[in-house]
Amino acid sequence: MNCIEKIQEIGPLKIIQLFFPIANFHAIVVIDNIALGPSIGGVRVSMDVTVEEVKRLARIMTLKNSIAGLPHGGGKAGILADPLSPKKEHYFRLFARAIKDLKDYIPGPDMGSNEECMALIYDEIGRAVALPEELGGIPLDKLGATGYGLAECAEIACPYVDIDLKGAKVAIQGFGSVGKAAARFLSEKGAIVIAVSDKKGCIYNFEGIDVKEIIDIKEKTGSVINYKKGTINDPSVLFSLPCDILIPAATADVINRENVNDIKAKLILQGANIPITTDAEEILHKKRILSIPDFIANAGGVIMAAMEYAKKTEKEAFDAISEKIKKNTDAIIKMALGEDIIPRKAAEIISKERVLKAMRYQGGI
Ligand code: NAD
Repeated sequence: MNCIEKIQEIGPLKIIQLFFPIANFHAIVVIDNIALGPSIGGVRVSMDVTVEEVKRLARIMTLKNSIAGLPHGGGKAGILADPLSPKKEHYFRLFARAIKDLKDYIPGPDMGSNEECMALIYDEIGRAVALPEELGGIPLDKLGATGYGLAECAEIACPYVDIDLKGAKVAIQGFGSVGKAAARFLSEKGAIVIAVSDKKGCIYNFEGIDVKEIIDIKEKTGSVINYKKGTINDPSVLFSLPCDILIPAATADVINRENVNDIKAKLILQGANIPITTDAEEILHKKRILSIPDFIANAGGVIMAAMEYAKKTEKEAFDAISEKIKKNTDAIIKMALGEDIIPRKAAEIISKERVLKAMRYQGGI
């Protein structure tokens, strides 16, 4: 039996839809697997989040938590609302009360939610991660946990595709918590950020973008396109720019059959969750473009959240991110090269193995 045939289904365990028609409230919770411990996963707030999307994201969390060696399973939630709604606090309090008895799910932040939202949930039910510092949390977005992990991942992956990280040219799609921190930590390692984008547009300068300045501009004006020392274009142009490392750090399925052949980078670090469609990942593999999957490359945030839950310090959290992401990046690249499979498949095999073993101990399969 080859290792791909060894993969078996591991979830989802529970799919729950929460409706409060009077309050016009609708939320979704998926607990994918809890064999390794209570599930941790973010709460996405979006007008169009679907059960299917939450299911896919919950599975990514199972794989991410397992391969990082965390004592947690995978889950995810979605609240169908405008992230800028003035009723956001009300929605989070309703959501918290509705999941009070769902003790196998520990909520964290995701797109459209942040540490303040986690504080609201914590206030209602005493269970959430990525809390504000005042409540004993380690503020993972402020510290840039996920971006830090991406830079650690780059350090290991670069030599496999003959890139010298010092001087490597980097393009980043999405300039939120993940994109900004990735730019900051990669430039500290000597990489040159040549392009960044947000919803409003993409800006590039092949001589390099001043990372500190563009972060400041994004925070003050709301968009990277207000940075004056570069060329402005449509957001989608970013994927076709010449660079060494490409980091999708915005939404799902942004690299797909339509644009995958435009990519010039030798290395892709998946900052967002599921940013590349399955068929595009196969094409990248055939073209020998190394693509490190989301649940390896962007695990920094959940590792820090789990460290906070275990009452560890900020330093212990950063050390854990570095150690786990470097080890896993190396392991999956070696396996992918050795068996000529895509890195995502290699990562799934390693990750599922731990979940399946734990399920066996619990009589789960
Ligand atoms: P964020 O909301 O802080 O930032 C998202 C950024 O993406 C914004 O700058 C937005 O303008 C930009 N964007 C949206 N659509 C775009 C488009 N079509 N083209 C270009 N830019 C676009 O979100 P975040 O916390 O940085 O998360 C980004 C992604 O990373 C999400 O997929 C999230 O699930 C994933 N992720 C986040 C963390 C974390 O620690 N925050 C951890 C793991 C994974």
